[in-house]
Amino acid sequence: MTAPTRSVSRSHISIVVPVYNEEAVLPELCKRLQATFESLSGDFEVIFVDDGSSDNSAAMIEQMHEDDPRFCAIHLSRNFGHQAAVTAGLEFARGDVTCVIDADLQDPPEVLPTLLQEWENGSDVVYGVRRNRKESRLKVQLYRFFYRLLSSLSAIPMPLDSGDFCVISREVLDELNRLPEKERFVRGLRAWVGFRQVGVAYDRDSRRAGESKYGFLALVRLAVNGIVSFSDKPLIYVMLFGGVISAFSFLYGSTLVVYRVLFGGVITGYASMMGGLLFLSGVQLLSLGLVGIYISKIFQEVKARPTYVVGSLRGLKRPAVEASPTSSDALSSATRSGEGEHRIRLNTHDT
Ligand code: UDP
Ligand code: MG
Repeated sequence: MTAPTRSVSRSHISIVVPVYNEEAVLPELCKRLQATFESLSGDFEVIFVDDGSSDNSAAMIEQMHEDDPRFCAIHLSRNFGHQAAVTAGLEFARGDVTCVIDADLQDPPEVLPTLLQEWENGSDVVYGVRRNRKESRLKVQLYRFFYRLLSSLSAIPMPLDSGDFCVISREVLDELNRLPEKERFVRGLRAWVGFRQVGVAYDRDSRRAGESKYGFLALVRLAVNGIVSFSDKPLIYVMLFGGVISAFSFLYGSTLVVYRVLFGGVITGYASMMGGLLFLSGVQLLSLGLVGIYISKIFQEVKARPTYVVGSLRGLKRPAVEASPTSSDALSSATRSGEGEHRIRLNTHDT
């Protein structure tokens, strides 16, 4: 399962960076990545995945490639979301080992050598574990709650407080890229694949500049997708809850009958009846919504639209996976030709 001898200085390292409107941080990110990886004396490529940025990010990335061809780019045809952007980068990564890092410098590039050292020592996936986060208290607490909830619901061990910041070996990345799921929760899939995984604690900085792209609803969506993708326990809990309520109602009803028939009691209580009715209606709607979420997930997967569509590539010769399950047909056929740079005509549009 572990590679015989791994050496960063003798390896090709890919660094995947999802970018969505990050013009304010790109110059510093570029400098810090360069400094970090030049000090490692390994051969590296940075894959910026421009996720349909509407600011100057795309042009800045192009310029970076002109200045240093080790900086490459995938320009997606529109904004597909963070997880889709990471997925695209991972599929194009050619390295013996691949790093994933956010553009906003919350994950310090200087920590990557420590993660790579663990990879050299034989770990296949080395993920950063957030020791502390310099973000709003509410966000920190919500994240804490989510990771604990996911971990307790998931059938496989999910690391706590770990995002997409990680290092992945070639073998594991190939397995990850082979998974056919379209709506991807990358950190969960990474854990699912298995092999030798280890966490390294680090301090997560605050965003260097610009604004977080994850609003409250986007975070909820990510959390729900994570839970639904890796657990059916919510459905089982709802079923158990329904069973408990049914049993309770049966006992309660039987008591009333006995009270009425044997003791001639008078049964009143419009208010308590309404209370019970409203409570149960709420529970039913909630359960229906929960089932709906799972059905919607099935619907997304059955439609089988690609996770992302590539608009153009810069400095990338060919994807690591030839006919990837998550990329569009346009991408697969165009990239199979193996040219250094492609302009891909899009043939997949949402209507
Ligand atoms: N990002 C992306 N597409 C999106 C939203 C975000 O590629 O639709 C990138 C973003 O540029 C950053 C990373 O994903 O590099 C994490 O996003 P952000 O920092 O906004 O999330 P947060 O750290 O606040 O959870
Ligand atoms: Mg961030």
